[in-house]
Amino acid sequence: EGMTIDELAKRTGQSISTLQTILTNVGEKVGSEFDTLSIDIAELVAMEVGVNVRRLHSNEGTEILPRPPVVTVMGHVDHGKTSLLDALRQTSVAAKEAGGITQHVGAFVVGMTSGASITFLDTPGHAAFSAMRARGAAVTDIVVLVVAADDGVMPQTLEAMAHAKAAKVPIVVAINKCDKPAANAEKVRLQLASEGLLLEDMGGDVQVVEVSAMKKTGLDNLEEALLLQAEMMDLKACIDGPAQAYVVEARLDRGKGPLVTAIVKAGTLICGKYVVVGSEWGRIRAIRDMAGKSTERATPAMPVEIEGLKGLPRAGDDIIVVESEERARMLSAGRKRKFEKDRLMKIMDGRVEDPETEPSDEAPKRVELPIIVKGDVQGTVQAVTDALGSLNSPQVFVNVVHVGVGSLSQSDVDMAQACGACIIGFNIKAPPSSISLAASRANIKIMQHRVIYHLLDDIGNFIVEKAPGTT
Ligand code: GDP
Repeated sequence: EGMTIDELAKRTGQSISTLQTILTNVGEKVGSEFDTLSIDIAELVAMEVGVNVRRLHSNEGTEILPRPPVVTVMGHVDHGKTSLLDALRQTSVAAKEAGGITQHVGAFVVGMTSGASITFLDTPGHAAFSAMRARGAAVTDIVVLVVAADDGVMPQTLEAMAHAKAAKVPIVVAINKCDKPAANAEKVRLQLASEGLLLEDMGGDVQVVEVSAMKKTGLDNLEEALLLQAEMMDLKACIDGPAQAYVVEARLDRGKGPLVTAIVKAGTLICGKYVVVGSEWGRIRAIRDMAGKSTERATPAMPVEIEGLKGLPRAGDDIIVVESEERARMLSAGRKRKFEKDRLMKIMDGRVEDPETEPSDEAPKRVELPIIVKGDVQGTVQAVTDALGSLNSPQVFVNVVHVGVGSLSQSDVDMAQACGACIIGFNIKAPPSSISLAASRANIKIMQHRVIYHLLDDIGNFIVEKAPGTT
């Protein structure tokens, strides 16, 4: 398995000599253009020239089987995304096995009596979806667009539609809160249609289901609609061969180190293998299913938690299996170099595009401010993240490395420490003293606010402190 230098040149559009130079740089022996490179090396080289080489092993004598759809829930704030996910999660396989108690792990699977199943990504909202897409991760097969029956189409409804359209992901509409007296599903249908959604009952192929997340009605219909949509899409994956998978969520556990929720797209992920994840690497020490049960292998659309990485990857990073520790280290180092180069390029682009920057001989260093945002609900987290983006300038790069809903936890502090970030708590309770203490010991700044305006003030001051002369 592998490809020749000649073949790689054709696929990347690079000259053979360019590729040979890169090969020498990464310490590979270089022979003729008809020498075969291993897939890892080919990938590494392709990345160095900015080309994403899809792995080749998928259609060689492997078994291709239908796989469950992976679904993301999107929609306007307060229209019931979280409630709907909660209601669906209660019917999930893990919830049944664990007696209803599940921890948030980024994804869950709902199994049908027919034997079919659906995988739901557990982070509602657009930020997660875009973050994944930004890394080229086509994880989501179907978007559930939640629209409140009493409120109708709102700005973020349209935004979600735009996201789905851009990603070419089909939508199934869930009109929620149908239990409310003010519910008007018919009006919502008309609004959606006038926004260009071709609804099924109007001759299109977008299915619409009426539900109530609160009363837990219509959930079966929603699940049926998702399976029907999946059937029409003819989702398939090969089970054999090394896994191709994506990170859905990553967090640091104090005892176990980086824990990654991953969804396999193709192949089988096997315990004990070396992997490269984004620019991190490791050896898979344990795989757990969503009920926390240890397993040896993960197959397509099955969300699992994996343990054994050396560093913390990001949502949307790809996971590839490599044959040895040496390869894993090398590929990870190559990617780190590439990412760093891209980051610098982006910063330079930012400088060029901004007319207000005065050209100077010394390139001013752009100060990066890694930030973790925690808020009471997804909507405020999104609003804070957007507001922070407005602080970006050629001198300052506000890098939101992690967002979350809920109170501050030790894992937030751990992550802040890992990436040198400060933490913003928006509209949440003050953390318990043990957490504050841990943060101050690690020299992590926590900013607690309830008003965006005050928050931006505080951050502005912080930026002046960190990077004098930038504002
Ligand atoms: P999100 O911001 O989209 O995640 O919305 P949430 O799930 O947090 O729900 C917003 C509010 O709507 C909460 O107060 C929920 O209790 C309420 N809600 C959600 N689903 C329903 C529903 O089906 N019926 C009614 N009556 N209220 C609902």
